[in-house]
Amino acid sequence: MTLDATHDPALSSWVDSANGHPDFPIQNLPLGVFAASEGDYRIGAAIGDRIVDLGALVDAGLIEGEWAETLGEETLNGFFGEGYEAASQLRARLSQLLSDKAHRAAIEPHLVDQSAVEMQLPASVGDYTDFYVGIHHATNVGKLFRPDNPLLPNYKYVPIGYHGRASSVRVSGHPVVRPSGQRKGPDQEVPARGPSARLDYELEMGIWVGEGNALGDPIPASEASQHIAGYCLLNDWSARDLQAWEYQPLGPFLAKSFLTTVSPWVITPQALAPFMEAMPPRPDGDPEPLPYLQGGPDKAALGISLDVLILTEKMREAGDAPHRLSHGEAASAMYWSAAQIVTHHASNGCNLQPGDLIGTGTLSTAKESGYGSMLELSNGGKKAIDLPNGETRTFLEDGDEIFLAARCEKEGAISIGLGSCSGRVLPARA
Ligand code: CA
Repeated sequence: MTLDATHDPALSSWVDSANGHPDFPIQNLPLGVFAASEGDYRIGAAIGDRIVDLGALVDAGLIEGEWAETLGEETLNGFFGEGYEAASQLRARLSQLLSDKAHRAAIEPHLVDQSAVEMQLPASVGDYTDFYVGIHHATNVGKLFRPDNPLLPNYKYVPIGYHGRASSVRVSGHPVVRPSGQRKGPDQEVPARGPSARLDYELEMGIWVGEGNALGDPIPASEASQHIAGYCLLNDWSARDLQAWEYQPLGPFLAKSFLTTVSPWVITPQALAPFMEAMPPRPDGDPEPLPYLQGGPDKAALGISLDVLILTEKMREAGDAPHRLSHGEAASAMYWSAAQIVTHHASNGCNLQPGDLIGTGTLSTAKESGYGSMLELSNGGKKAIDLPNGETRTFLEDGDEIFLAARCEKEGAISIGLGSCSGRVLPARA
């Protein structure tokens, strides 16, 4: 991933709101799907507080390429399948069109306000896989279950993952209906069914798969990053009481599959290029990755800072601002890189397809201030989390809204953000 004219910090846009925009300056140009009216789904790119309609630009002859007609579709699956080079070409053209005032008159009719549209899922999710590469999260959760042996012996060899549920992936803002299910407290002899009393969030990054691989053909580590179309925020809502009872021996099931929320904008690897970092060195004594997981990009770690905020019903009624529960960063949280995740996923010949969604797993830092779930912040529900208005939480209550946020900042680069990933908890349904 090389830097080019599209990353130039001096570049500005004739779309005034883009210049100095916290999330979407012209150096970002994330892709998404929006609807200005019910059922009218269009592919767009965010620029400041507006969206440029990419299908309309293709129709107007302003964007050309063998891949261009996929931008007229209702999801990004087709464009994702065109691969990394197509995304680079689109980015270069958009950067030119939105910076050079000569194009203003032709483009302006194809801009819409973000506030006037509803964002949709960027792609039709064929498959969703959730990994577990956040080593501090895995250690913290492992300690709750196995104090003497928090990390299982495979963790430092295998990027651990499980197959999640694609049908319940929703875009930011979708309500979080409290799930009901079986749970059994330590003092109970038999389980009972009822609304989860330990509803939690998980702060994760999502990876959108770009060009796929044919069934049977692995993706070499050296090519894995070319198969990533982009990144989003992902909240893997989790019912801890259901999870504790059901997870053995085959892993998460109904504790997770009731909803997964993603942020609507796809932040491309090209936009992230200035912020990528070398993977943190493995601690002394840790094994080297097996050869098939070596040879990826030099800068494979995501230089992204991550925040979780909460707004309770009482805070909302009082007009309070959301309260920050944690602040951390992705790079130090991830034991395996996104490229290694992709390589491992396809290493048995499993075919990844454009628009498949991959979660990294909960991203917690080593410090408590960067823990990415309430399970960790409340130490398994044993310690109350204090909120500024005097309320406390161990897990989520009805009316609570959780916001995930992410930013990339680096000296010499224009900062970009990932947009919003939120959801409000609603009472369980009978
Ligand atoms: Ca998860």
